[in-house]
Amino acid sequence: MTLTPEQALEQAALAGIHCLRIPTPFAVGRVNCYLLEDEPLTLIDTGPNSGKALDELQSQLAERGHAIEDLELVILTHQHIDHLGLVEIIARRSGAEVAALGLAAERLANFGEDAEREDELAVQLMLRNGIPQEVAFALQSVSRSFRGWGSRAEVTRPLEDGQTMPFRDRLLEALHRPGHSPSDTIFWDADRRILIAADHLIAHISSNPLITRPLDGSSERTQALVTYIESMRKTREMPAEFVLSGHGEPITDHVALIDDRLAKHDRRKEKVYKLIAEQPRTGYEIAQAMWGNVAVTQAFLTLSEVIGHADLLVNEGRVREVTDGDVVRYEATG
Ligand SMILES: [Zn+2]
Repeated sequence: MTLTPEQALEQAALAGIHCLRIPTPFAVGRVNCYLLEDEPLTLIDTGPNSGKALDELQSQLAERGHAIEDLELVILTHQHIDHLGLVEIIARRSGAEVAALGLAAERLANFGEDAEREDELAVQLMLRNGIPQEVAFALQSVSRSFRGWGSRAEVTRPLEDGQTMPFRDRLLEALHRPGHSPSDTIFWDADRRILIAADHLIAHISSNPLITRPLDGSSERTQALVTYIESMRKTREMPAEFVLSGHGEPITDHVALIDDRLAKHDRRKEKVYKLIAEQPRTGYEIAQAMWGNVAVTQAFLTLSEVIGHADLLVNEGRVREVTDGDVVRYEATG
């Protein structure tokens, strides 16, 4: 019998996992952080770096009889600022350890510098794929203006893929599931069959596999969608009773959700192929043919979608990239 999302939250609470919904200034709305009432007392994700987020986190902790100062461990699920912005403040006030994927530790420690390099790559990528200069530069300044909601983080407990974290009442296995971001890490309670997956899986929105620099710091871009599909296939095989997400409601049938997402990407891939087979096009031209003239703030998102699906086609040998001056076009090989 499938649980309702409400029942899943009740079961999680009985297992000492409490969802704290923390406000963000972003379109995605509130972020779900999880308080683990165990030893050590643990917070999974922190919310963004804002007074409002800190205030709400404090009062939601207080409702359960805790203060920021009581926290002993903070676990970060991935590198995005809506999930980790308060980590430095919390770690300083509580002395809590900070656990995150070890591969991401250097990146998290150099947040400002790293975000700058990330934005530079994004601009280069946008220009190469035919996005007009003024759009690319406008997006760069939007991204810069968001940076204040993030924070650097000193990871004191680096995690390896497959590592088991022992608590008084449970074991959590940390599993690296890159795609939505290169550092996505999910936490698996095998005894209770509860999966804490953050943005790896979200019920009401398809997690956007944004093009990003890999964690090793090289400037070669990742094949974010290809990686994400591999990660989803692994998660599909897990016997989870329910999945706790980084946004929105718990997922009570992750197999159906993943099958649905895989089918959607397959359909979108064929749509992209059709456009490329008609005539060679830049990523921007494909995005425009698919979605029309989107808002400036959506330009990188839609380009990431197009490149993600074009990567799948390139890997299948059906499409190739052809450089033409400063831009790259996709053309069909057949
Ligand atoms: Zn995210």
